[in-house]
Amino acid sequence: MRGNKYKILKKLGKGSHGTVVLAEDQETLQMVAIKRIRQQFCSYEESLSSRELQILRELHHPNIIALLDAFYEDGRLYLVLEYLESNLCDLLKKENRRLLSHGTSNRTQGMREDEIRLITSALLQGLSYIHKQGFVHRDLKPENILCSKTGAYGPVKIADFSLATQYCTDERHSPIRAMTGYVATRWYRAPELLLLNSPITAAVPGGRLDTKGLQEMNRFAPSADMWSLGVIFAELLLGYPIFPGKTEEQQLRLIAQVLGTPPIPEEIFHEANKRIIKSFNKQLFGSSLKPPPRVPFRYRVQSLM
Ligand code: ADP
Ligand code: MG
Ligand code: MG
Repeated sequence: MRGNKYKILKKLGKGSHGTVVLAEDQETLQMVAIKRIRQQFCSYEESLSSRELQILRELHHPNIIALLDAFYEDGRLYLVLEYLESNLCDLLKKENRRLLSHGTSNRTQGMREDEIRLITSALLQGLSYIHKQGFVHRDLKPENILCSKTGAYGPVKIADFSLATQYCTDERHSPIRAMTGYVATRWYRAPELLLLNSPITAAVPGGRLDTKGLQEMNRFAPSADMWSLGVIFAELLLGYPIFPGKTEEQQLRLIAQVLGTPPIPEEIFHEANKRIIKSFNKQLFGSSLKPPPRVPFRYRVQSLM
């Protein structure tokens, strides 16, 4: 590949936007991850101005996966990325297995407190930088958070900028087109983004979610990332996902059901607030560019954290 510069070793993963392989840079012997962007997301003109490529080029931070190289070959765009061997999804699965093998129910205990603190801190720092650079990630979820085998004690980096966009106070004037297309994992998505690809227009039954208001919300605001971070944080704490919707509609219903009450049991929330959350307050509130307009439940998620 690319004049034999990269030797492909194995497939690492497949998402909705591309396939990722492990490769060795034959010159430096460095291991890299190469993401081949799916055809539909890379016509020739588009590949040259690919959003993921453009955004990754601007981001240089210890908590964000580094872009090492990019090339166009056989009608496809390839992104050469720094390689990390694990991700938060694997880490959570391993943790659940550990708890089960010790006879502890995975429904009552999440990750260790020191690990939660390290991971949350890394995510806050990465996100804060992304937002300060004027971007919004919009697809933060455990699969897209990479780490080494040492887990929370090694590097923790935000990856997958395929849905990222430029932060824009008025999306009608966004320099980048709004994203369309189906995204598989919905558990971590902010409600206003859930409605982006969904035909749901009627009010969600059983809840107080204002779907019309959501549809009018700015979907290019950093607050969508803060929602995902809150949902991930809750999962680290509890050991299970808090909004595991099977469809967009069920997802919105689950979210609507907990409006007004944090989806974390009172005692766990109280302890977490005392021991972890308080230390993050400053970072949390400093991480968004400014509070987005018309976001009634955004502050609930922030107070959930
Ligand atoms: P998509 O936009 O299609 O979801 P991702 O960028 O998330 O693509 O990559 C898909 C999967 O490939 C990830 O969930 C992860 O398991 C793996 N992967 C992606 N980038 C890397 C990397 N830099 N190092 C190791 N694995 C990676
Ligand atoms: Mg992904
Ligand atoms: Mg993606």
